[in-house]
Amino acid sequence: MSAAILDGRVFAAEIQRELQDRAAARRVELGFQPSLAIVVIRDHIGESASDVYVRQLRRTARQVGLSSRVLELPTSADAAELLALLARLNDDETVHGIIVQLPLPPHIGRDVLLDAISPAKDVDGISATNAGNLFLNLPALVPATCAAVMELLDRAEIDLDGQRAVIVGASAVVGRPLALMLLHRNATVTVCHIYTQDLPSFTRQADILVAAAGVPKLIKADMVRPGAIVIDVGINVLPDGQVVGDVDFDSVYDIAGAITPVPGGIGPLTNLMVLRQTLHHLTTTV
Ligand code: NAD
Repeated sequence: MSAAILDGRVFAAEIQRELQDRAAARRVELGFQPSLAIVVIRDHIGESASDVYVRQLRRTARQVGLSSRVLELPTSADAAELLALLARLNDDETVHGIIVQLPLPPHIGRDVLLDAISPAKDVDGISATNAGNLFLNLPALVPATCAAVMELLDRAEIDLDGQRAVIVGASAVVGRPLALMLLHRNATVTVCHIYTQDLPSFTRQADILVAAAGVPKLIKADMVRPGAIVIDVGINVLPDGQVVGDVDFDSVYDIAGAITPVPGGIGPLTNLMVLRQTLHHLTTTV
């Protein structure tokens, strides 16, 4: 039997309609359109993958009824310039959400961001305050990709209580926060990473298997328990330009109970989660 396809685009259309209503209500409250600030550090040499992402995010924001602005710094900027820009945006009452496009140039380093964005405007959940609140299961703004995974599981009505969730990938932006979110929803969670020995022995235990390693087609059919729910967070561009996930979709499709495609699975929900958090949606299970 082949898997049910968990189509992120269908869920995205539903969420977009809900956010349109919420944005309209927020606009009435504020007297002006809520707004997202996108900070990009780059030099103008052609178009990058990040430019494509920013364009899509701004288009979705417009469709939902949020305004957005891009603030650019050159790659020669130092940490002090970035912090000054973020401080200005933190103080700007017309800005409701701030995201900084990663990666930052190596001479700046990501840790400068941990305390730089006001927690209430940190709509991709990267600040130490939001990470701490998530750890404590207090209301938090969370990494958008993790919010997207949880949203898809909920909209697909997948019960999490007591389920064995195995996450392949332990990054600060995907694997680790997602582990906490699944744990707070009563799943039994295992986090695997590059040092994990005998990865298939873990993945085969999963009722819910999340692949977030950044390795094209890492998860093969023999690593999946028949009937498992398989969520593919990976976005990998092959040398021929094809975009694939971390799951070998064609083989896993025959064994999984349900599976997200790439593209068209988690990706379409991620931008919407940034926008939802810009409209003051906090994640909490308490
Ligand atoms: P990362 O490189 O920061 O972390 C990768 C993690 O996977 C690490 O913990 C590493 O130990 C683990 N890993 C790597 N190779 C492994 C292997 N062979 N076996 C087991 N574990 C392994 O990556 P990230 O930023 O967390 O992103 C992960 C993937 O998710 C990437 O493909 C990225 O493009 C994608 N991503 C998607 C979205 C989205 O919106 N869908 C958002 C962010 C990232």
